[in-house]
Amino acid sequence: MAAPRVAGLTCPNCGAAITIRALQQTQTVVCASCHAVLDSRDQQLSVLQQYQAKMTYEPDLPLGTRGMIRGDPYEVSGFQVRSVRQNDTDYFWREYTLWNPYKGYRYLMEYDGHWCDFDITRAAPPEEVNGRQPFVRYDGATFRHYRTTTVTTEFILGEFPWQLRAGDRITSRDFIAPPRLFSEEVSPQSTVWALGTYVPAQAIWRAFGRPGNPPPARGAFFVAPNAHTPRAFRLGKIAAAIGVPVFVALVFRHLFAPRGSVFDTQIPYVAALALAVLPAFVETRRASKFEDARWAASDYAADEM
Ligand SMILES: [Zn+2]
Repeated sequence: MAAPRVAGLTCPNCGAAITIRALQQTQTVVCASCHAVLDSRDQQLSVLQQYQAKMTYEPDLPLGTRGMIRGDPYEVSGFQVRSVRQNDTDYFWREYTLWNPYKGYRYLMEYDGHWCDFDITRAAPPEEVNGRQPFVRYDGATFRHYRTTTVTTEFILGEFPWQLRAGDRITSRDFIAPPRLFSEEVSPQSTVWALGTYVPAQAIWRAFGRPGNPPPARGAFFVAPNAHTPRAFRLGKIAAAIGVPVFVALVFRHLFAPRGSVFDTQIPYVAALALAVLPAFVETRRASKFEDARWAASDYAADEM
């Protein structure tokens, strides 16, 4: 990958040197020293926003960090902290714009230690409706509408191939088929779709050669895979493999055992049956609780569709 190009630009706000990596595509660049937001389509880099935020944030993947995503090298070129307000609480997450001179842009999002990798696409999949919940079909999966929110950009660093300032608001609609999701963002300028895939934090850390361990993922993230579902399925098969012969043996015992001794001889069979079925039952309950938690922050109930 080519080294970042320094075009001899300086920040009109503080005089610091400005580096622009994707000179042709970049529309907005943030001064690394004073955080002023600058218009990079203008030779003079006119100031779009002088003081962008009360708080500053440190990206987990620093600007300029390079990593391999799906076999291609990408460089972290932009960072934004975004928020959504729900029930009077603001929830914050982080997005990293990644750039490759031959492949273009993609981005990563991180919330509570959960990561998603996004491919940007202009083409929206056709939308259908079942009851009151819209959905889209893509690549053999049904992506159910999760929620519609107003997303606010709180803080930005680096450079962006579109106009962006702190305080900007867009309308976002998410459609999920865990571990994937479609995200639609509607701004006055454009409508953009992106297809995201859940990525374990360890994989991001490895891809970008980050030292140590990533912060642990917390909570039931809305597109995290439900680890209980495959476990419940495996335990269900074990339960059937053990439970069916035990049940058949129990029936035989019941029919052919001498009267009076039936109660004594049934106990080990019933116990074996319970032990075979219980783990599958518990894991199925956990899987269903996880789905309830997944859909808790959505516009729908877990079993709506
Ligand atoms: Zn500056």
